[in-house]
Amino acid sequence: MVGHTDSPAICVVGAGIVGASAALHLARLGATKVTVVDAGEPLAGTTPAGAGFVAAFAADTNRRLHPDCVPLETYGVDFYTDLDARGHDIDFSARGNLVLALTPEKYSWLQAGLLEHPARLPGTRAVTPEEINGLTSGAVNTDKVAGGVLMPEGIQVTTGKAVLAMLEELRAADADLRFSTAVTGILRDADGRVTGVTTTQGDISADVVILACGAWVNDLLTPLGQQLPLVPVVATRMVSADVGVPADLPTIQCPELGLWIRELHGAWSWGVGSAYRRASLLEGVDTSIGRPVAAELIEAQQAAQPQVAEVFPTLAGQAAVTTIQGMPVYSADGNLYAGAVPSAPGLFALSGDNESGVTHGPGMGRLVAEMVLGHEPFVSPTSFRLDRTDPADFVDEDAVVAVMAGDRVADALD
Ligand SMILES: Cc1cc2nc3c(=O)[nH]c(=O)nc-3n(C[C@H](O)[C@H](O)[C@H](O)COP(=O)(O)OP(=O)(O)OC[C@H]3O[C@@H](n4cnc5c(N)ncnc54)[C@H](O)[C@@H]3O)c2cc1C
Repeated sequence: MVGHTDSPAICVVGAGIVGASAALHLARLGATKVTVVDAGEPLAGTTPAGAGFVAAFAADTNRRLHPDCVPLETYGVDFYTDLDARGHDIDFSARGNLVLALTPEKYSWLQAGLLEHPARLPGTRAVTPEEINGLTSGAVNTDKVAGGVLMPEGIQVTTGKAVLAMLEELRAADADLRFSTAVTGILRDADGRVTGVTTTQGDISADVVILACGAWVNDLLTPLGQQLPLVPVVATRMVSADVGVPADLPTIQCPELGLWIRELHGAWSWGVGSAYRRASLLEGVDTSIGRPVAAELIEAQQAAQPQVAEVFPTLAGQAAVTTIQGMPVYSADGNLYAGAVPSAPGLFALSGDNESGVTHGPGMGRLVAEMVLGHEPFVSPTSFRLDRTDPADFVDEDAVVAVMAGDRVADALD
């Protein structure tokens, strides 16, 4: 909390889904001096690459998210539902999230993991191939499927449109939005307290600075002697031509194929784990602020397509109309960071999205806004503290990767 009676000057660094959410929640809680600074133009970073799945992913044994994330996830569902209800076009659809198993063994594994998860949401249920046929209007070749689990809370949005809607609301709330302005450092007084930021367009004074700069957060933390144990990973999404995919499909995941897939305007929007790779291992790929282009991952996804098309037949032979890549960041313990930077009073950071920033962005933004403005946090901030991990345990990225052995994305890391 800041010791001001009037509204503190707050600078949010990053206008992706996480930074836009933080700024919007600050404005909604009454902050009147909110500046959002982004190195690029709107939608410059990872967010538009996001596939727009939103569900209670912390209630899934396939993820290492802390159970405290579940209230952030259900808040994310509510937040986008409200954004849609208030007339923003975000391609909103509420059809649940369906996790498919191809073999009876995996079906048992899925049921044990999801149906017996202590944090599962009401209504989570096993579904037979016949039910899957109905749920997907015949878009899935159920001869290849042993069963699935439906997470009924799942929704889907177009991530870029959601950010643009938030920026529109921020403009209406008189927030100061500055694009093509890279933050180059954090200003502090003699006591180490934050006083603003230096940027490529001059200094900005602020009582509070919130870093929401995605995969590049450590660029600004390292000079302060602080570093979060994170691994940026390049991930790939492809969108096919309109092949008449039914619009009423749930979002779909299939762990055996390393697959996530959904309908988007009659097309398939999809990605596979084999088209993910630790960014630092990709030679010749520019991973500076923006979005990378990694040809080898595009080829890897194309190579996986025939196998995916055995289960989703209308994807067979379809060239990608759009290919978009981005850099989610994975944390050592698989959980999010949302909290104060211990060594710099007035500085906060939101990071470690673990490829779920669309889902958690609204909740992370609400949580940090409540902390900054001294409101009672809607969820305990303890699990998300930055000092829960000791930097001394993670001298470099390899040390982070070492503790991630067995993680669902481990294959992408070495
Ligand atoms: C292929 C793919 C599929 C995904 N699918 C899903 C999904 O279905 N569901 C889900 O929940 N998540 C998904 N994700 C993850 C999700 O997209 C990310 O977690 C989320 O977009 C991260 O948002 P962000 O705001 O942290 O980062 P970004 O969108 O990258 O925003 C960070 C911003 O900070 C700016 N910035 C960085 N450094 C500076 C600086 N020094 N000065 C000023 N500005 C700076 C950048 O320009 C950028 O605009 C997916 C990601 C990918 C790549």
